[in-house]
Amino acid sequence: MPKRSSGLANCPVSGPMVPWGLTPGLALLLAGCATPQYAIRPTPAPEESAEALEIEREISAVQAEAFEQLGARRLGWNERVRGLDVQGAVDRLSRVTERPALHYRASLYADDDPNAAALADGRIYLSTGMVNYLAGRGGRIDELAFVLAHELAHTVAQHLVKRYRMLQQQQLMIALVAAGAAAATRGAGEGAQQAGQLAVDAAGLLQDVANSSYSQEQELEADQLGIRYVSRAGFAPRAALDLLQDFSRFDYPWPFMRTHPYTSVRRDDLERYLAETESPAGRRKALQDAQRLYPNGSVSWQNLQRQIEALDR
Ligand SMILES: [Zn+2]
Repeated sequence: MPKRSSGLANCPVSGPMVPWGLTPGLALLLAGCATPQYAIRPTPAPEESAEALEIEREISAVQAEAFEQLGARRLGWNERVRGLDVQGAVDRLSRVTERPALHYRASLYADDDPNAAALADGRIYLSTGMVNYLAGRGGRIDELAFVLAHELAHTVAQHLVKRYRMLQQQQLMIALVAAGAAAATRGAGEGAQQAGQLAVDAAGLLQDVANSSYSQEQELEADQLGIRYVSRAGFAPRAALDLLQDFSRFDYPWPFMRTHPYTSVRRDDLERYLAETESPAGRRKALQDAQRLYPNGSVSWQNLQRQIEALDR
């Protein structure tokens, strides 16, 4: 994240105190502390309603402002940063997501903490610290691809829209309870008025969502969806395991302060997922899932069909 005080929903590798996206307070309340169980996550079905797109636009506007203040600069189509073609990798990955039509554009901002973030509208931000960190590990495009794919997954799975909706429901419940209590003691008219005031704090809600972090469940989901995109786009998925192995040295030593899964949990989850999906049966299912994204008989569909048939030989 650019500055910890801004608390943007994002995925830092390290930080002075809070590695990998912890914003105390709100996130702690919402996410709880239990680590989610391993599961094969369902394929996201993005909601493209006008209301969902409006929520995404407004949350993104709040978040983009923080990065603009840090001098974020959009990367060129063929620009290389320390040898890494960031936008090129974003393009390869975004094409194989369940939401290929968003404008996924990568920007770089100056911050020593290794970090990356994706906005709900497709804008992606990498810190110079992340680029330097990856370059220091040999500048493997497959590792960069996992970092980017994890971020894209947050956007594709609409984690911020889901959080917005959840908070909206909570506010409504609080308002209804307050209205009921007021109606019981002071009369229905006053209760209804109070409910109206509580229920319509949409601007506050947008701010809360823009400043919250993802839940553990969402982080693990982003890892798994991300690894699917990495594989489909032709990058090496196991590079993610090397990367997470190294991230574990950033783990925060006080578990009670942490909402983010230990990187060892993330790594174990991904390793199990890869083992299951790399078996012939698992590979077939993954290819068939990917195939459903494309029109029957299209070039991509046929390409995947050939890979499925090759499994039979
Ligand atoms: Zn994340």
